[in-house]
Amino acid sequence: MITGSCLCGANAFELDAAPGPVTACHCGQCRRYSGFHAASIDYDAKDMRWLRQGHLSRFTHPGGSTRVFCGTCGTKLWFEYADGGLSLEAGVMDAPTGARLAEHIFVADKGDFYDIADGLPQQQGWED
Ligand SMILES: [Zn+2]
Ligand SMILES: [Zn+2]
Repeated sequence: MITGSCLCGANAFELDAAPGPVTACHCGQCRRYSGFHAASIDYDAKDMRWLRQGHLSRFTHPGGSTRVFCGTCGTKLWFEYADGGLSLEAGVMDAPTGARLAEHIFVADKGDFYDIADGLPQQQGWED
């Protein structure tokens, strides 16, 4: 069983399904949101169960996607696509996750203060 929680512990959840591949997103939104780049795993909302649910804050982009984070400690929890799909932040999950980083997307927009040198596939933008 995979579990995860925010920094203050107010929000905690468990996941019924094993994690899929981790995607690193280097887009300008994720750069600002994370301070670096996002690392997330797509999940079906039905596979996620709350153990504790505290205050959640949301930021909705003009395109309709939403960022959800702990309203107390600010931990980034997940990204909701406009169609309702979830992309959970990999960093909130407790080890061992069994997950591995698989690719980099929106590399054209990445910060200029680091290089990507892990040899994984890189997309300039994103094609699902
Ligand atoms: Zn918190
Ligand atoms: Zn992004």
